Amino acid sequence: MQKKILELISLLFVIFILFQLFIYQWPQLFWWVSIFEISLISVLIVYYTMYFQKKYENQLSKELYQKLQQLFFNEHDTKIKEYKLKDIYELIDKIKDERSKQLEYFKNLDSYRKEYLGNVSHELKTPLFNVQGYISTLLDGATEDPIILNEYLKKADKNIERMINIIDDLETISQLESGSMILDIEDFDIESLINEVFEQMELLANKKGIQLVLEKENPNDVYIVNADKFRIRQVLINLISNSIKYGKEKGKTTIWLQKKQEKIFVCVEDNGIGIDEIHLPRIFERFYRVDKGRSREQGGTGLGLAIVKHIIEAHKQSITVQSQLGVGTKFQFSLKAV
Ligand code: ADP
Repeated sequence: MQKKILELISLLFVIFILFQLFIYQWPQLFWWVSIFEISLISVLIVYYTMYFQKKYENQLSKELYQKLQQLFFNEHDTKIKEYKLKDIYELIDKIKDERSKQLEYFKNLDSYRKEYLGNVSHELKTPLFNVQGYISTLLDGATEDPIILNEYLKKADKNIERMINIIDDLETISQLESGSMILDIEDFDIESLINEVFEQMELLANKKGIQLVLEKENPNDVYIVNADKFRIRQVLINLISNSIKYGKEKGKTTIWLQKKQEKIFVCVEDNGIGIDEIHLPRIFERFYRVDKGRSREQGGTGLGLAIVKHIIEAHKQSITVQSQLGVGTKFQFSLKAV
């Protein structure tokens, strides 16, 4: 627009100069034309100054915009020729939003890290102090009593086993969280995997008189899934062992298999102690336990369900929980069907 006005004024100026060449024929007009010409020149000077200033500002804005964009978003936009100051304000607002989001993220990460370290050291400290206590008592002379010696060594061994379990679970969690765990995806029959895990868990279930049952929606169906067999075995072990740990004496754990569209749903249901609904939203957090004492007594690390959730999410699938205190608990997860 400004360029068009400038062109128009310049054209007018040229016309008047040409006109002046013929003005000697009308001397009475000379002064009027001169005054008009001087005004035109002044307007031209002002407009040209404004035009070049604007051009310079645009060039500066463009450079500034591109520098900011490269600095904060690592992007380089070469297509757009012109930037206005308004664009820079918008970019600065975008940068501000991005920075406050990042700040929030780092704050959360920091408190998460502190909480995590606190939990880890607390979890490891308890069994470590126990082992130290047993060894000190033995060193103080308890070794002379063979019954106490045997009992304390067994207890120390149990605590060491607990520490190993925690470290193994932590290793699995950190591999899953850092994304360094590569899934070994294959097609396999989930029904036979469940039967294998049942065999593995039989002894534990028998101790409590808990029955392990597999139910299929359609008895003639074959349930082939596409997943990491080793990791899904871990999921089943964690869920079934929880159903036994928190199950009632002479209770029952049922695994249901169901096929729906492109998915196979696996449901692990028990008729155990159940979980109060206020705990349900946090049940998959690491180290979260409803009853700390009971969990430790059962050899739990508080990491089992966090691992389960990570594995299922690494498969881009989901897991849900339903529970009623005193009635039982039901975990259901999906897998890709073949
Ligand atoms: P833990 O090692 O303590 O068992 P998990 O992460 O496996 O840790 O489980 C977290 C908590 O969820 C447990 O401490 C327990 O309170 C509760 N929980 C898990 N599974 C069940 C279940 N089947 N029935 C009742 N409570 C359960």
